[in-house]
Amino acid sequence: MAYKIVEALCTACGACETECPNEAISMKGFTYVIDPEKCTECEGFHDTPQCAEVCPRPETCIPA
Ligand code: SF4
Ligand code: SF4
Repeated sequence: MAYKIVEALCTACGACETECPNEAISMKGFTYVIDPEKCTECEGFHDTPQCAEVCPRPETCIPA
């Protein structure tokens, strides 16, 4: 029950970081990463994973 960011596709725009209700997204090196221990796929907060909603790149925030 966690999402991941495909490193090769992430442009490090940062849009997803502030949308995560669990503060699971942070910058690591040149891209952003999702902490699987913190990601709940937005359950209880939103109907859909917000990182995937706001990411301008398709298929970048996907189920792990
Ligand atoms: S799916 Fe939701 S909880 Fe998980 S990283 Fe994305 S925004 Fe955060
Ligand atoms: S919104 Fe998408 S492209 Fe932007 S930092 Fe997050 S994963 Fe990377």
